[in-house]
Amino acid sequence: AVIARTKAVEPRVQAFNSFDEADALAQAAAADARRAAGETRGALDGIPIGLKDVIAVEGQPLTASSKMLANFVSPYDATATVRLKKAGAVLWGRLNCDEFAMGSSNENSAFGPVANPWDLARVPGGSSGGSAAALAAGEAIATFGSDTGGSIRQPAALCGVVGLKPSYGLVSRYGLVAYASSLDQIGPMARTVEDAAILLGAVAGHDERDSTSLPKSVPDYRAELAARRGPWTLGIPKEYFGEGLDPEIGAAVERAIAFYRAQGCTIREVSLPHTRYCLDTYYIIATAEASSNLGRFDGVRYGHRSKAATDAVDLYFKSRAEGFGAEVKRRIMLGTYVLSSGYYDAFYLRAQKVRTLIRQDFLNAYQGVDALITPTSPIPAFKRGEKSDPLTMYLCDIYTIGVNLAGLPAISVPAGFTNSGLPIGVQLIGQPLEEANLLAIAHAYD
Ligand code: GLN
Repeated sequence: AVIARTKAVEPRVQAFNSFDEADALAQAAAADARRAAGETRGALDGIPIGLKDVIAVEGQPLTASSKMLANFVSPYDATATVRLKKAGAVLWGRLNCDEFAMGSSNENSAFGPVANPWDLARVPGGSSGGSAAALAAGEAIATFGSDTGGSIRQPAALCGVVGLKPSYGLVSRYGLVAYASSLDQIGPMARTVEDAAILLGAVAGHDERDSTSLPKSVPDYRAELAARRGPWTLGIPKEYFGEGLDPEIGAAVERAIAFYRAQGCTIREVSLPHTRYCLDTYYIIATAEASSNLGRFDGVRYGHRSKAATDAVDLYFKSRAEGFGAEVKRRIMLGTYVLSSGYYDAFYLRAQKVRTLIRQDFLNAYQGVDALITPTSPIPAFKRGEKSDPLTMYLCDIYTIGVNLAGLPAISVPAGFTNSGLPIGVQLIGQPLEEANLLAIAHAYD
């Protein structure tokens, strides 16, 4: 059914970079055989799940939506992939995204933009736009994305689905194409919070192949949904409701807050005073790490190799010039600049210090508070081509990037529609590694 649906709508949505029908049918047949033999592997056995094209699957293309990796086939599985296969999931297709996960609209893909299923002239958000759009259009039962500054939550909000960014260190990054390693996390996108809980449980937990993976035991998140019933105390960070917030989104978040109040929750205003530095801090740290991570694409070991090069150095220059898109080049240049001698102290080192203050803001706000409630995105899905300058695009992440800088878990849950029928998302931000509580709070509203 998912394959038929994909074939019917994919020409309009364009959420996939590629898919392999025969391979998916073989995986599904194996799941059927297990079921017939009474050996089913649990909730995900036989369920078609799409992966963003930055998560490695052995023998399948891994492009990061870049010309640089257009012909690259992954020789190994990401840890998340290994765990999904073990759970019996049918891995279905490679989902389009912004190139190397850099963007908020999926317009930066070398393979073309993705359309928002709710209005095909509009963007699905980014960078996991294909993951959100495929799910919203019924082209997968669930998907996975990656979130460095909002790339799971913002597209989830713009496409009317659930998107969860786990605490830093909960899900292994082994086999995830690196953008900004101290911020990146893989996470699930689903139709319900309960589905997200099941999906998180399948991929979370310690992995010795990722040195930043935390040696924590993983609870049964689905069982915890029923076990934790509140009432909770929710904090409203006053800095997240200021200028630039679409009034219809503000009203939807107010309705969500009223819902929790009616459930007996305590609502309290809190302050995150360094919020106004989040965007600057993020774009220094993320670009610095990206410039370093993307140094490996030299046209020699793998990836695009220029045919026009005259010598070795020229090969590096031309392969990178031809292989990377404009936004990726902008980030590499910014990152190289903030890391260069003479500027390192003024930009990179300073940003690291501000990052600590931003994390401290959240920890202070959590005194007696279970989670924070905010808008996910300041605006609903916008038209393709509408945001042509990078700075306006970067503002899309204003409510999501602080979470990555602080390493926290956060989830975007559908919260109704604008008058013109575009989905709205509300964001809940949890305490570090308190995914079970966060999911239970989100589930109450879902
Ligand atoms: N939009 C942000 C960026 O371009 C976040 C991307 C992400 O989370 N991968 O950096």
